[in-house]
Amino acid sequence: MNANLFSRLFDDLDDATLLAIETPDGRRITYGDLIAFSGRLANVLVARGVRPGDRVAVQAEKSVPNLALYLATLRAGAVYLPLNDAYTLNELDYFITDAEPSLVVCDPSKAEGIQAIASKVKARVETLDAGGKGSLTAAATAAKPDFITIARAGDDLAAILYTSGTTGRSKGAMLTHDNLTSNAMSLVDAWRFTEKDVLIHALPIYHTHGLFVASNVTLLARASMIFLPRFDPDVVIRVMARASVLMGVPTFYTRLLQHPALTKESTGPMRLFISGSAPLLADTHREWSARTGHAVLERYGMTETGMNTSNPYDGDRVPGAVGPALRGVAVRVTDRETGKELPRESVGMIEVKGPNVFKGYWRMPEKTRTEFRDDGFFITGDIGRIDQRDYLHILGRGTDLVITGGLNVYPKEIESEIDALAGVAESAVIGVPHPDFGEGVTAVVVRGANQCLTEEQILKALDGRLAKFKIPKRVIFADELPRNAMGKVQKNILRQTYAGLYGNGSSVFERSGHRFA
Ligand code: AMP
Repeated sequence: MNANLFSRLFDDLDDATLLAIETPDGRRITYGDLIAFSGRLANVLVARGVRPGDRVAVQAEKSVPNLALYLATLRAGAVYLPLNDAYTLNELDYFITDAEPSLVVCDPSKAEGIQAIASKVKARVETLDAGGKGSLTAAATAAKPDFITIARAGDDLAAILYTSGTTGRSKGAMLTHDNLTSNAMSLVDAWRFTEKDVLIHALPIYHTHGLFVASNVTLLARASMIFLPRFDPDVVIRVMARASVLMGVPTFYTRLLQHPALTKESTGPMRLFISGSAPLLADTHREWSARTGHAVLERYGMTETGMNTSNPYDGDRVPGAVGPALRGVAVRVTDRETGKELPRESVGMIEVKGPNVFKGYWRMPEKTRTEFRDDGFFITGDIGRIDQRDYLHILGRGTDLVITGGLNVYPKEIESEIDALAGVAESAVIGVPHPDFGEGVTAVVVRGANQCLTEEQILKALDGRLAKFKIPKRVIFADELPRNAMGKVQKNILRQTYAGLYGNGSSVFERSGHRFA
């Protein structure tokens, strides 16, 4: 059998007239259209010298042709390598020379700069703009739609996604056809996707969430998606009238909650709201339920593993928890140092094993070895706890752990206490170098609108609720928390900004020149 993800998605399609994609400008693309378009593009790729196993690097805006290019790359047996459209030429130099693609597809505005980098690895360059125009699609128009999908083994690479790399160099996670197929199949079941579903697709497609979770799940279920170029709360609320599922990062939900048109009526036609890629505040979960009558379903995954756990479709969707392991996935919590599995309710390193777990980091065999245990479990780097009902709770990245006076402080615990205070919108707790304690627990707090809470009031409120060593040494107020495109708070930026807080005495605000104050 051909284990190529494309074949697994479409070989048994029996109705090519089903709608696959709808665009805001009213275009309707059927499954048959999408497959034919991917066939044309696959013919172009082969004509440009792309061979099975070659990487096709793509830095292009979200568009239907870009999604079809992903499918075409699979069909050609090549490896799709999407790159965040915010990356600069300097950053692209690293990715392109590391991945050595045979073809780079980019926006025409970047073609000249990218050409210079691509020629170092003898890659060709084709263009594709936000409207789906460029040399690639021009060639596709003249190409034949028929293409025999190249046979691949389950263990062959389908994609390489570079991790966001908040510590050290970004690493290329190698994902196989089996990784992506198994995850899509279990999510279709877990979230009860059927051909009646209409997904609001407002996520970027250079990331695992928008590319694999959203697109593969929809296509495998023969559902359709309303393919939006970006997240716009007005548009998302408007299209809910004819949609059934929204997949979003937590920022989608906080921003939608600020919109007066978000009501029980406007969300009435929807059956499911899914959140992931960053922690959804328990408060946001509760506010969403109160306002819309829907309990957000939070799930947990990462570039290297696809999805690992999910709150249940039926049963309790617990605020602040990411649910039990998905079918076929094993999740455990271990001692960070010894790797020994810990009993329920203990806090430790989250490790996962299953058909979803990636093959390793591209050209980093040493790094790959150190991130896996001998029994095949992948060490996620996330800290968490599994409760008595097998629900996983995430306490943050291991690298965000604060060690103060030799004691471990898990930021999430302090953040939850601070977030629960009236007048606080959100908070981030970080460790900042401290002359006495090694690291000083430091809270960066965003106040709610028109709130004037002080540092003293917050510290007083925490007194008696948290052990003394966990109480922040300082509380700093900011207008907002720095976030990446997926809504993750960038604690590394906060740590840099406040690095001198307990240091040489000069004002952190003077030195950092940062907009947070
Ligand atoms: P990425 O590889 O960019 O998808 O980032 C994966 C990381 O995002 C995980 O290792 C977690 O730290 C975080 N993450 C993903 N989903 C959740 C969630 N539901 N709650 C908390 N953190 C999450």
